[in-house]
Amino acid sequence: MNVPYGKTILGLICLSLNLGGTRAAPTEGLDPLVSSWEVTTVDEDLLKTIASGFEIVSRQNDTYQFYGFYDERERVKAFCPQCKIVQVDIHQGLSSIAETNAYHSFEDIEKKLFDWQNRYSEIAMVDEYGLSGRDRGLYALVLTAPGPSLQKKEVMLTAATHGDELITTEVLLRLTEEILEGFGNDDRLTRFLENTRVHVIPVVSPDGFARRARYVGRVDPNRNFPRPNGNDIASIPAIAGLRDYVADNNIVGSIDFHAFSQLLMYPWAYTRDRLDPIEEAAYVDLGQKMVLDNDYRLGQVSRILYPARGSSADYWHWKHGTLAWAAELATSKVPRAERIPEVVDEAREMTWVFLEAFAPVL
Ligand SMILES: [Zn+2]
Repeated sequence: MNVPYGKTILGLICLSLNLGGTRAAPTEGLDPLVSSWEVTTVDEDLLKTIASGFEIVSRQNDTYQFYGFYDERERVKAFCPQCKIVQVDIHQGLSSIAETNAYHSFEDIEKKLFDWQNRYSEIAMVDEYGLSGRDRGLYALVLTAPGPSLQKKEVMLTAATHGDELITTEVLLRLTEEILEGFGNDDRLTRFLENTRVHVIPVVSPDGFARRARYVGRVDPNRNFPRPNGNDIASIPAIAGLRDYVADNNIVGSIDFHAFSQLLMYPWAYTRDRLDPIEEAAYVDLGQKMVLDNDYRLGQVSRILYPARGSSADYWHWKHGTLAWAAELATSKVPRAERIPEVVDEAREMTWVFLEAFAPVL
């Protein structure tokens, strides 16, 4: 039932084929070019070296794709002559699809959140929990039914921690709209808001998102969280703001949406060590239900891909005991507009089953 790795590679190929052509215009000058490399190896030392300085983002058997800055290509060549660049600029062409109006700009999203707050004032409230490094608002939309709230569980759905993974934001916005429209009409969706407070954060990294870029400067936002046995690290403002937000809100369950590969993953990412067996059983039990409909591949981040330090799911799980998922949606980061509904369909039941775990049928 597993999704074959072939889909991952297919996604990459589609991305290059669909998006070839014009280079995205350089925007905010200081951002370095990010390239994608590929290597086929079983050499653990080599993989460790790669993982310590670069981002391993996909894997097919023993073939790994990883991202790094183009200006580090000489360094890569020195320790890994067989590593090949497969895409000089991973963001090349992203803008051309994104600017077809199918994808929201950051300003569109700000407006939409406040529109929703006005239109659905009983159940939706915008919480601006900080500012990004470039003074963009950090927004959560908090959804819950009116009435007493002491027993409600706090759950969180986040997207665009990586600002180039545009499909994640689109999916989250459309699912949010379904909840807003369904409240009071659809029993299942209504029950979510009667039992939980859903914190929807459509853009975790606005500075990356505004430029359709994974990194903020040279920082990968999903490697920017402290981890067990690691040093405390200074997170960029968008991540520091989110850390505070979660600490303030007692979040007990979360999904961080990424793209792409059609995976549903749980901690740990930073080590191949497994979780405590009781904790892992809880993830596997719920995870199997979450992927029943979409057949996403389920597993521990570090075992499905490769260890990665400083990710959100590890941090929420470790610091707050959150049931913290990372979902890799779709088969590309920016599918063509007409394919967006298919990805929403992929994600819907997975998300509803997750919410249902905190809003059970009595
Ligand atoms: Zn990502």
